[in-house]
This record gives sequence, structure tokens and C-alpha cells, in this order.
Amino acid sequence: MQITETYKSLQGESTYAGLPCVFVRLTGCNLRCSWCDSEYTFQGGRKMTVEEVLSEVSRLSPGGGLVEITGGEPMLQEREVVPLMKLLLDEDYKVLLETSGERPLEKVPAEVVKIVDVKCPDSGEADTFHIENLESLTARDEVKFVLSSRADYEFAREFTQRHNLAARVNAVLFSPAFRKDATGARDSSHCLLDPQELAEWMIADNVPARLGLQLHKFIWDPALKGV
Ligand code: SF4
Repeated sequence: MQITETYKSLQGESTYAGLPCVFVRLTGCNLRCSWCDSEYTFQGGRKMTVEEVLSEVSRLSPGGGLVEITGGEPMLQEREVVPLMKLLLDEDYKVLLETSGERPLEKVPAEVVKIVDVKCPDSGEADTFHIENLESLTARDEVKFVLSSRADYEFAREFTQRHNLAARVNAVLFSPAFRKDATGARDSSHCLLDPQELAEWMIADNVPARLGLQLHKFIWDPALKGV
């Protein structure tokens, strides 16, 4: 499989935010979100076998712990990433899969926590979510919407209501997008949508979702990779 990087940090998003986590970042993505902060994954990387990735994970976090498979879009390498997830589960790792949900998810092992990033209009990649994937979501999964405008918020709110997401998954997350060239200040000034404004909308509408901030961008310089 083609891997951009493996490293250990704190999980920055989802209900697992704040926990130590090994990240396995796969190379390649078929989308081009306007605010993407992972463009360095679009090409390059190095070839590794599934066993080599497993051994790197056990070096970084011996004997278990949290592992996130991310990218890029990891499901583009389904043939290798599904066996990798099974091996990690066999070795007692808690496995998170971060995906856009553009590719079918039915082959993902049931024990894996899927964190599905449904694209909103201002990402430039609206309507890419494979709607049949709703049937693959379980009570351990999470659905995330990265928002950069009021239009994105309304899309997320309506999608959540129409598909009764709060009853299907563990958490629905509304997260303000960060500027992709953000650097320096570790605060919400880099958010494309003011978290306070988003909070006020969510309270007014009583949406069954939680506001998520990208924790790692408040701990380290937002420009820093490998954290
Ligand atoms: S799906 Fe993820 S990696 Fe791909 S362009 Fe969008 S934000 Fe970037």
C-alpha cells in the first residue's frame, strides 16, 4: 500500500479527541476539497506491505491503543486497507477509519469506527457521498460535516434531519473548516466559520449534533504536519 506518513499524536477530532493515537495516513485522494489541509497526501508516499504498517503501529503503540486510518482517501486502497484493519483488530487495537464516504463502505469490518466526512456545498465536492453507505453506518460510527458558511450549516442540518442521523450513529459532528494556509496563532481566528456563530445557530435550532473543533490546531501551530 502507498503510505504518506505514520506518527503518534493526540486524536484531534471526533468523540475520541484528546486521546493518544497512531495515525496511518494513506496516499492519494479522488476529491479536491477547497479547504483541504492534506494536499501533501495527493502524491508521493512510500510503498509498504500490510505487515510493515502493522509493525510500525506496534512500534509506536506497543500492545494496543487507538489507531486512525486516514488520508487522502484510505478506501481508494480498499484491497490492502481492509486486511490491515482486520490485522489491527486481531492485535487488540481500537481502529478508526476517516473517510469521505465516496467509496462503498460495506467491506469495512464491523468493529471499526467509521468517521464519515460528508462533504458540504462550499467544499466544492458536494454530492460525492455514496448514499447507500447510510445502510453501513452503525451505532459506533460518527458522521462529520466540515462547515465554512451558513449554506454549509443548513445543508448539514437538513441532511442530519432527513436521514435521522442522530438515531443511526454514535455522534453527528459539526466542525468549522480551518483555512488551509493557517499558520502561527493557535486560535479560532483561522476558522472559515466563526465557532461562536456556529454555536449560536446550533443552539437556536436545537440540532442533534455536537460542535467539534480540531483540537490539534489549538495545541500546535496549524501549519505543522505530523501532529
Ligand atoms: S477528502 Fe480529505 S484529503 Fe481528500 S481533498 Fe477532501 S479534505 Fe483533502
